[in-house]
Amino acid sequence: MSKYPHVVIVGAGFGGLGVAEQLAHVPVHVTLIDRHNYHTFQPLLYQVATSLLNAEDVGASVRSMFRHQENVNFRLGTVTGIDLSGREIQLDDGDKVTFDYLVLAGGATVNYFGTPGAAEHTFPLYTLMNAVKLRNQVMQRFEAADRDPAAIDDGALTFVVVGAGPTGVETAGALSDLFYNLLPRDYHQLATEKARIIIVEMGKEVLAAFKENLREYARNELEERKVEVRLGEAVAEVGPSSVKLKSGEEIKAHTIVWAAGVQVSPLAKMLGMPQGRGGRVKLNPDLSVPEHPEIFVVGDMGEVSSDGLVLPQLASVAMQSGEHVGRQISRRIAVEETQPFKYWDKGFMATIGRGSAVVEFPNKRTLHGPVAYFAWLGVHLALLSGMRNRIETLWNWGWSALTHDRAARIIIEGEEDVPVLSSGAKSVSTQ
Ligand SMILES: Cc1cc2nc3c(=O)[nH]c(=O)nc-3n(C[C@H](O)[C@H](O)[C@H](O)COP(=O)(O)OP(=O)(O)OC[C@H]3O[C@@H](n4cnc5c(N)ncnc54)[C@H](O)[C@@H]3O)c2cc1C
Repeated sequence: MSKYPHVVIVGAGFGGLGVAEQLAHVPVHVTLIDRHNYHTFQPLLYQVATSLLNAEDVGASVRSMFRHQENVNFRLGTVTGIDLSGREIQLDDGDKVTFDYLVLAGGATVNYFGTPGAAEHTFPLYTLMNAVKLRNQVMQRFEAADRDPAAIDDGALTFVVVGAGPTGVETAGALSDLFYNLLPRDYHQLATEKARIIIVEMGKEVLAAFKENLREYARNELEERKVEVRLGEAVAEVGPSSVKLKSGEEIKAHTIVWAAGVQVSPLAKMLGMPQGRGGRVKLNPDLSVPEHPEIFVVGDMGEVSSDGLVLPQLASVAMQSGEHVGRQISRRIAVEETQPFKYWDKGFMATIGRGSAVVEFPNKRTLHGPVAYFAWLGVHLALLSGMRNRIETLWNWGWSALTHDRAARIIIEGEEDVPVLSSGAKSVSTQ
C-alpha cells in the first residue's frame, strides 16, 4: 500500500488525462480507470467514420501515455457504483477501489431526447466503435446499391444527419467529399451521383454557436457540396429505413446519423449530487462537489463555470478543468486554500469539408475558408496524443490532399455479424 494519498480518476478523456498529467510531481498515488485501454480523440471521430483516418490514428494507449509517469497506474474497468461515505468505487468485475480524492471525468454520451426509434435505428458518434460501425454502414450501403440499384430508391444511398452543430456539419461535409470525389472512381457501374446527404436541424441555423457570417458561410459551403440543408425541421420518429419529420414528411433513408444532442455519462447519477442542464453535475467554483471537498468533477460531466458563466462541453474546457483540479489536489495536500477555476478562452472552430472551415476567436474576430482550414488542421494535429498518431494522421491527410484517396475504406466486422445489412437495410440479393 502506498504511503501517499490515493487519487482515483475515472475517465481517460481530455479531462482525466489533464488531472493525471498535472499530478506528475505531486506526492500522490494515482489510479486512472477507464472502460477502454485507450484515449479517444473525439473531434476526429467523423474522419474515421468517413474513411479518412484509421481507428488507431485517433485512439492512444493510456498505458503508453503514462509510461514515464510512475505515480500513475492504469486500471481497465467500468465503474458501476460510488460509495461516498465509504470513499470507495465499485467496478463491473466486482472489485472495489478506495480513494482519498476522487475525480470523475466520464464525459458525455448521446441524447436521443426520447425520439421513438432513434436508439434502435440511428448511428451516434461518441466512441471509436460508433465511428467504425458508421464507416461499415456507409460502405455496406454503397455495396448494396451496387448489387441492386433499385435499392437506391428505397433509401440505400440517402444519408440523413440529424443536428447541424459542429459534429453534424463536419460529418455531412466529409460524407460529401467521400461520395462525390472518391467513390465515383471506385464504383464503375453505380450512379453515385444519386447519393443524397440531408442535414436536418430543428433550429433556424447551422453552427448556431458561431457568428452570423460564419453560419451563412457554412450553410453555403454545405449546399455547394450537394448537402441538402433542412432547417426548422425536427425528427418525430425513426424507422428501420426511414425518418419521419414533425412536419409529417417521411424520408426514405437507410442511414441516419444522430448528431443532435448530448447527456452526461451515467456516472453523474451514481454520484447522487444535484445535476443541471443535460445532467451536468453542479459544482463549487474550485470544481469540487458540494459538501465533498475530496471529490471533483471535470470536463463534459460537470457544470464547469468560469467568472460565473457555465462553459460549453469542449475539449479545451475538459483539458483546462482537469489541469485545474490536478493543481487543487496538490494545494489540498499542501494544506492550502483551493482556487476557483478560470478558463482561458482560445476560441472555437469547425470544418465544413476539404479546404473549408470556420474559426471564431475570443475577441469575436472570425476567419473562414482555406486559411481557417489549415488553422484547423494544425490545431487538431497538435492536440492529438502521441507522435505516432500525429505522423499517421498527417500522412493520411497529405495522401488524401494529393490524391483525393482515403485510407480506410474497408468493412471490418466479425464473421458472426453476417448478414451485413443493419439499420434498416432491405434484404438484397447477392446475385
Ligand atoms: C463527435 C465529436 C466531435 C467533437 N468535436 C470537438 C471539437 O472539434 N472541438 C472541441 O473542443 N470539442 C469537440 N468535442 C467535444 C469534446 O470531445 C469533449 O468536450 C471532450 O471529449 C470532453 O472530455 P471529457 O474528458 O469530459 O470526456 P471524454 O473525452 O468523453 O472522456 C470520458 C472517458 O470516460 C470513460 N468512461 C465513461 N464512463 C465510464 C465508466 N462508467 N467507467 C469507466 N470509464 C468511463 C470513457 O470511456 C472516456 O474515455 C467533440 C465531441 C464529439 C462526440
